[in-house]
Amino acid sequence: MSGKTVLVTGGAGFLGSHLCDRLVEGEAQVICVDNLQTGRLDNISHLMQRRGFRFIRHDVTDRLCIDGPIDEIYNLACPASPPQYERDPIHTFRTSVLGAMNLLDLAEAKGARILQASTSEVYGDPMLCPQSETYWGNVNMIGPRACYDEGKRGAETLFHLYREDRGVDIRVARIFNTYGPRMRPDDGRVVSNFIVQALAGTPLTVYGSGRQTRSFCYVDDLVGGLVRLMASPATVKGPVNLGNPGEFTVLALAELVLAKTGSRSKVAFRTLPGDDPRRRRPDIALAERVLGWGPTIPLEEGLDRTIPYFAEVMHQNVAGV
Ligand code: NAD
Ligand code: UDP
Repeated sequence: MSGKTVLVTGGAGFLGSHLCDRLVEGEAQVICVDNLQTGRLDNISHLMQRRGFRFIRHDVTDRLCIDGPIDEIYNLACPASPPQYERDPIHTFRTSVLGAMNLLDLAEAKGARILQASTSEVYGDPMLCPQSETYWGNVNMIGPRACYDEGKRGAETLFHLYREDRGVDIRVARIFNTYGPRMRPDDGRVVSNFIVQALAGTPLTVYGSGRQTRSFCYVDDLVGGLVRLMASPATVKGPVNLGNPGEFTVLALAELVLAKTGSRSKVAFRTLPGDDPRRRRPDIALAERVLGWGPTIPLEEGLDRTIPYFAEVMHQNVAGV
């Protein structure tokens, strides 16, 4: 990636900021674009003075004009946590679909390769487990999660069409639940919620019975997969699942977080949100075969790396730093 100019939308967010770190380390010229809806300048403040790093505050639903060449575009702009993307569902849908179209137009104009951050949510509440890329999914198109799920499905369609009709060089990653440092304490996703609640000594809010499952991937593994997918040959045509196949119930995650933090918090059961998928586990055979990629950091180790980050943030908040 050395010497390449790489544009990252959503670059001030959780995943995007880690990706920017990796690209800057690889001596790419990085243009980070973000509207700071869920992202934070704190996530990239350490990069602001680095040569070759530039931040542009911009909403991807508006067309983006950039002078000079661009070699690669990673399109990560979109809130990813259900309470965040459900807050303004029409804007989420616009971000997913209009944002994708604006970035695809830019990629076409610049002759850049473009990677879409798609999601396991395209499989909805899956009827098959594990989910492989050939599965078309089970999505409620007018349910509470539809703005995100259908927006991301529409974006995949657009990426496919721009490749077929206009020859744009695309890659699509279907990302499964990823966690790690730089998630917002108020993000609302399960790993950050449980860690914050455990450290604060408040009850861990388990939605429903807690028997639903997710497969949790540590951020460093995921970023490695994105970079490999971007570098993969054009023969890698379809979407590729990226995630950690280790499958855990939400209740098991709660117990693990309690054990890791040494917290005496209790578990409090809350209403299950509508259309919450019951099982999720990636089939990553394709990523293993075409990218030579697989996760290396199991959940226990990833939590050991993530808990101190939240402890530090909460300490700073209490100290008013
Ligand atoms: P995040 O909310 O931390 O990051 C999203 C970033 O996009 C934020 O910085 C936000 O300000 C920015 N953004 C949102 N709408 C925008 C807009 N209209 N214009 C410009 N910037 C905008 O979430 P994340 O977990 O880092 O997710 C990043 C991407 O990865 C998202 O596209 C998400 O759908 C995808 N993804 C993430 C996961 C995961 O588990 N983390 C799973 C599947 C897919
Ligand atoms: N969840 C939970 N308590 C929380 C937050 C989430 O039990 O405080 C559950 C949620 O209902 C879902 C799972 O944890 O079954 C993962 O939720 P998250 O929002 O992290 O991701 P997604 O549902 O998008 O996979």
